[in-house]
Amino acid sequence: MAVPKKVTNAKSGAEQGLLRAIPKVDEFLGWVAGESAAPAMLVKDAVRETLDEARIAIQAGRITQKTDLDRSALVPRCVARLAAKMTPNLRRVINASGVVVHTNLGRSLLPQEAMASLLTVGSRYSNLEFDLNTGRRGSRYSLVEDLLCRLTGAEAGLVVNNNAAAVMLVLDTLAHGREVVVSRGQLVEIGGSFRIPEVMEKSGARLVEVGATNRTHLRDYENAITDETALLLKVHSSNFKIIGFFAEVELKDLVALAASRALLVVEDLGSGSLVDFSRWGLTKEPTVQETVAAGVDVVTFSGDKLLGGPQAGIILGKKAIIDRIKQNPLNRALRIDKFTLAALETVLRLYFDEEQARATIPTLAMLTMDYATIRRRAARLLRQLRPGVESAWQVAGMDTESRVGGGALPEQGLASRAVTVQPRDRSVNRLEQQLRQARLPVIGRIEDDRLLLDLRTVADDEVALLAAALLAVFKENPA
Ligand SMILES: *Cc1c(COP(=O)(O)O)cnc(C)c1O
Repeated sequence: MAVPKKVTNAKSGAEQGLLRAIPKVDEFLGWVAGESAAPAMLVKDAVRETLDEARIAIQAGRITQKTDLDRSALVPRCVARLAAKMTPNLRRVINASGVVVHTNLGRSLLPQEAMASLLTVGSRYSNLEFDLNTGRRGSRYSLVEDLLCRLTGAEAGLVVNNNAAAVMLVLDTLAHGREVVVSRGQLVEIGGSFRIPEVMEKSGARLVEVGATNRTHLRDYENAITDETALLLKVHSSNFKIIGFFAEVELKDLVALAASRALLVVEDLGSGSLVDFSRWGLTKEPTVQETVAAGVDVVTFSGDKLLGGPQAGIILGKKAIIDRIKQNPLNRALRIDKFTLAALETVLRLYFDEEQARATIPTLAMLTMDYATIRRRAARLLRQLRPGVESAWQVAGMDTESRVGGGALPEQGLASRAVTVQPRDRSVNRLEQQLRQARLPVIGRIEDDRLLLDLRTVADDEVALLAAALLAVFKENPA
């Protein structure tokens, strides 16, 4: 790129000399060609950016010597740029945050069984919308509907892109232009400053909020019902908990009220679990089966929260109502792809045996993992780490609490074990940043001026990788 004459004329002779010493693009391309296997398109971009950077550095007075423009000075900069360009934007990280269903880190990990189905369905033709019995067009939803009904007792169901889409589709079908009565205490904000009421209003339904933030009574719902009311909505409060003077109307009471007024009841369960986690010592949460059995007309929940499957929004309920939802044209716009279906079907099949589900579905395995296992993992990490960092970093084991995440069981702390790192050669914030930007990024959390690495969410086969990442950062420049 030519440097504008006007600007250069005003500059000092020394600066002009440096600008003239910048290698020509074609010459520089030749130097880089042997150093990288990157596609020519990326090489060109990196070369141009490297030369632009040099020009700006000269004009800013940061480059004052011709040797800084030598092949040996510029080529490594260009190669580093290329390496960054060749690194995929979406990549693996080690989750040492202890948050199991971490929305920012991809929520649920799929079981090996589901990965095998993905591979097959992704690389081979399938009967996605083809009925092998009749030889005619089939429905993609039929592949999982029976499984969902068998597991939950629901009469019918369908699956869409995510739970927010599920809620919107349900309200658009059942309450467009009409009123939906919902407790004020249940109108929550979920990740990314996304507010559930805003999603709901996009459906064209009008929300009628009842009760106070901390207490809502059955009479509040009763008083809000008008000719315009289409349904009563219950939203799982998911990511927060009101402690103290608190009252919510039970689902069975809402169902009874709705029946007496010929209205529908819809529950957005949020996480939605098919197993009762209290059998493994966690807090009791209503399962999908219990919600269905309580008589709701429709229940929705996420596929990738407590269920431990792929991103999806699962809609279950009474057949006549689900049929109406299926026929909504919006359904087509929110439909799931074959990968989701393949993974979801495989995960659902694992639920036919709860112990098998617990052992094979990573989200369930991590949530129910015993403390002793995590402690052994932490000890293993310490053994691999200590000899390498002894002098400058203080590392230790510490009891901590992991979190469920995904807006589920907000109060539930899971007894866990962490390795803490207290660096003496750099700030803990710098350490956190270096680990986050490592080739295999590591995400921990800072507490009391120490970096905490919770081993619950670090797989057994990741302990050595975590140790290697830490040791590599240890050798990096602290500054
Ligand atoms: C998480 C959540 C949602 C959104 O689900 P997505 O699958 O992320 O779209 C909606 N409602 C509740 C109560 C939730 O907890």
